[in-house]
Amino acid sequence: MSEKKTVAVAIDGPSGAGKSTVARILAKELGFLYVDTGALYRTVGYAALQENIDPHDTEAVGSLLPNITVTMGYVDGEQRVFLNGKDVSDFIRTPEVSMAASAVSALPEVRKFLFNLQQDTAHRENVIMDGRDIGTVVLPFADVKIFLTASAEERARRRLLELVEKGTEVTYEEVLEDMKVRDYNDSHRATAPLKPADDAQLVNTDGIDLQQSVELLKNLILSSLKG
Ligand code: C5P
Repeated sequence: MSEKKTVAVAIDGPSGAGKSTVARILAKELGFLYVDTGALYRTVGYAALQENIDPHDTEAVGSLLPNITVTMGYVDGEQRVFLNGKDVSDFIRTPEVSMAASAVSALPEVRKFLFNLQQDTAHRENVIMDGRDIGTVVLPFADVKIFLTASAEERARRRLLELVEKGTEVTYEEVLEDMKVRDYNDSHRATAPLKPADDAQLVNTDGIDLQQSVELLKNLILSSLKG
């Protein structure tokens, strides 16, 4: 039996560039599965915090990995993440878990631990997958690669709105600072640093609203898939 060829769209970029919001809408419109890979790194970061492990402690995080399982599933079309079979999706969006995710994601062991789950999903389904290294490392064979970005200030403003809506008490300055630290960590780590793939299409969303970003990317994806 010949293997079914699935379609993969990779969307990478820094925190707060709007990747997840845009990708989720596009996946619905195009009938693809939306995969938020940041949620997987957040789950490992959350697991470390739960065990009182310093997320920067390579050895301690490394010895945690064989004792946990991280899986994902879809409930009413929404991705959920499971730590040891327990749905932790509602606990992984705090600023503390964001920083822990950023720290554990720099460890090659953690990236290896989550690699198959991401790649296998794309082999099974048509996906729009968002992350930092999807076009460069996880799905180098992706049919379309987009690198979505915006200025740190614009991204911090958007992330602040999201956090405030969820009732998290943070200031703009704190969010901007977190954003800059995570940007730095993500782009300077030795393994799978955040950078556009050579064949990625670069999109800057400064001054463009959500609807316009969705339209722009939809046109890019459809014309790339046609061509
Ligand atoms: O995308 P999100 O902000 O939820 O990701 C949380 C953290 O996980 C990021 O700051 C980044 O350090 C890490 N990450 C990664 N590779 C991915 C997705 C996320 O290193 N593919």
